[in-house]
Amino acid sequence: MKKVLITGAAGFLGSHLCDRFIEEGFYVIGMDNLITGSIKNIEHLFKLKHFEFYHHDVSRFVHIPGDLHYILHFASPASPIDYLQMPIQTMKVGSLGTHNLLGLAKAKNARILVASTSEVYGDPEVHPQPEEYWGHVNPIGPRGVYDEAKRFQEALTMAYHNFHGLETRIVRIFNTYGPRMRVNDGRALPAFLSQAIRKEALTVFGDGSQTRSFCYVEDLVEGVYRLLMSDYHLPVNIGNPDEITIKEFAEEIIGLVEDEKLEIIYKELPKDDPKKRRPDTTKAKEILGWEAKVSRREGLKRTYEYFKQVLNEST
Ligand code: UDP
Repeated sequence: MKKVLITGAAGFLGSHLCDRFIEEGFYVIGMDNLITGSIKNIEHLFKLKHFEFYHHDVSRFVHIPGDLHYILHFASPASPIDYLQMPIQTMKVGSLGTHNLLGLAKAKNARILVASTSEVYGDPEVHPQPEEYWGHVNPIGPRGVYDEAKRFQEALTMAYHNFHGLETRIVRIFNTYGPRMRVNDGRALPAFLSQAIRKEALTVFGDGSQTRSFCYVEDLVEGVYRLLMSDYHLPVNIGNPDEITIKEFAEEIIGLVEDEKLEIIYKELPKDDPKKRRPDTTKAKEILGWEAKVSRREGLKRTYEYFKQVLNEST
């Protein structure tokens, strides 16, 4: 039986990956320090004999007894508010954490996939963003702690590949959404959905003309799985190219909850907020035969059901 270590296992993406690898017949070791993750996301796995959980911070030395075949490094604060509040942990998990896991992969002769991000492109001057674009990042701005940690992570991963011949994979993840996102993580989708469900005004930052392209979590997980199993070691964008302005996105959510009386209020645009973002997914199509399948309409419907349930439980 193949063993996989998933860091950030109690988080949004990590928990969905745990589910997928269990389904595929792996022995899954989940690891999380629970600073942004929640045990609730993986509670259902604790009864399985092919799952175990280590409460551990990967920025410290990581020890796994016995064989290990695959590592997926998904631990990190991931929303702009989280990394503003935890700048040093964010830098440590992307740098020291990555170093520990690359060392573990080397010791175990395991293949490692690291979660990178569209943030490596910063506030992009090329649109849409192909993997060849080097990015436009402010290293000392508020998002720099995340962006530069992830850029360092990519450089270190490539160094282990080139110098030690380690089997490495790098996925650049664009905005992803779905059940198990934290209601209060500050990102646009959880903010808008929870505001709409509570019948509060939706807070659009700036004039809402900035764009994003939202990918449903099930599609993302499929892309990550295919990339891990491929033989391609250079970065691959995984995201849904269906681009929308944030204002239109807020309006879509008002439509979804069927309450046309809901208002939009405009707040200050955070510093260095990217003006445009859309993945060029040519590589994912060519190399992995992958493209996003779940429409925003369908994905939002499923996510809405989840948020209603969570918000009902908390009131
Ligand atoms: N945003 C917004 N209202 C909110 C939260 C976010 O208008 O309550 C905007 C944010 O400024 C950005 C976009 O929505 O332009 C997406 O933000 P998010 O935090 O989801 O992630 P990002 O793509 O910026 O990392």
